[in-house]
Amino acid sequence: MMKNPSVKGSVQRQIDNSVSRLLSDLRGLEPPLDLEKVRSRLKLGLEFYSGKDPSHLRQLIHTIKISGHDLIENTQRQLGWIIQKVGLKGLIFWEDNRIMIDKDLHAIKHRWAECHEIGHKLCAWHKHYLLGDSENELSPSCHAKIEAEANYACGQLLFMQDRFVEELMSRPMKLSSLESHTKTFRNSKASTLWRMVEEYKGSHAVVGIVSEHPHHTPEGFDPLDPCRYVIQSDSFRQQFSNLTEVQLFNIVKSYCNHKLGGPLGSQEVELLDDNGESHEFVFESFCYRFNIPGSKTGEKGNQVLTLGIQQQKRSSLTLPVHSGRSTATARLIVP
Ligand SMILES: [Zn+2]
Repeated sequence: MMKNPSVKGSVQRQIDNSVSRLLSDLRGLEPPLDLEKVRSRLKLGLEFYSGKDPSHLRQLIHTIKISGHDLIENTQRQLGWIIQKVGLKGLIFWEDNRIMIDKDLHAIKHRWAECHEIGHKLCAWHKHYLLGDSENELSPSCHAKIEAEANYACGQLLFMQDRFVEELMSRPMKLSSLESHTKTFRNSKASTLWRMVEEYKGSHAVVGIVSEHPHHTPEGFDPLDPCRYVIQSDSFRQQFSNLTEVQLFNIVKSYCNHKLGGPLGSQEVELLDDNGESHEFVFESFCYRFNIPGSKTGEKGNQVLTLGIQQQKRSSLTLPVHSGRSTATARLIVP
């Protein structure tokens, strides 16, 4: 279960200001954002480690110990923390101004991982959390909070703030526009969908879903936790807080065809808001195929992106009666 956590308004403003200062210092930049220029401005070094080879990581950390002053003890603690942290894609050594990224990541994910670490650096208050001090271990909610803040900063930077908003609002809010935004800003499809939903300035509620193909779920798929991400616009979050990921995934499943790759179809859907009022949405989905990293047999995975956008608001007086079933307790009415 992974609905996009919201970052507090005052924190957002702080991050927005830092990103905007940084972008204007780097005058005249056009998308895609050149991360090397960003790092050089912030005097951040970049190194790669192999996530598959812990000894390589240990060796890299040893070099930090030598250059650091009182880092030795902290670094040891950091090491323990790093290794415990499953699926770590990157890390930042604050005092050393070094970023490390797992070199086994897919190239497009490098960009996000690298910029995520830069995002931490832009949140000066993260310094105290990222030391990995075991006595100060982060609670999961605190960890989720700082990760959301770093991701927010990362998104603002990679999509260059207003530059993306202009681009977004100049095209129809449809999955077909995603391809062109992806090319312009050279970020992953999932992160582009994420920004499209969060930056949408129109008056309609919007929801984005990143999931498996509903008709080709892989081994170990958990039907109670079916979506990789559910991204909600502010107005969607305010109006449809009772809607669960399972319900959203079931909507996607209800109209998607079985094709592997390409458009999976679209559907008009009625959603009931938290007050029981009905709203018409159009949902559409697209399936992207990718090579599963590390697969020797060339196995492919599926990533399905879904965009749901509210049409006009309906009065509850015209709520359609669904044959034979009471809609009073149903959260969703899937035609
Ligand atoms: Zn992080």
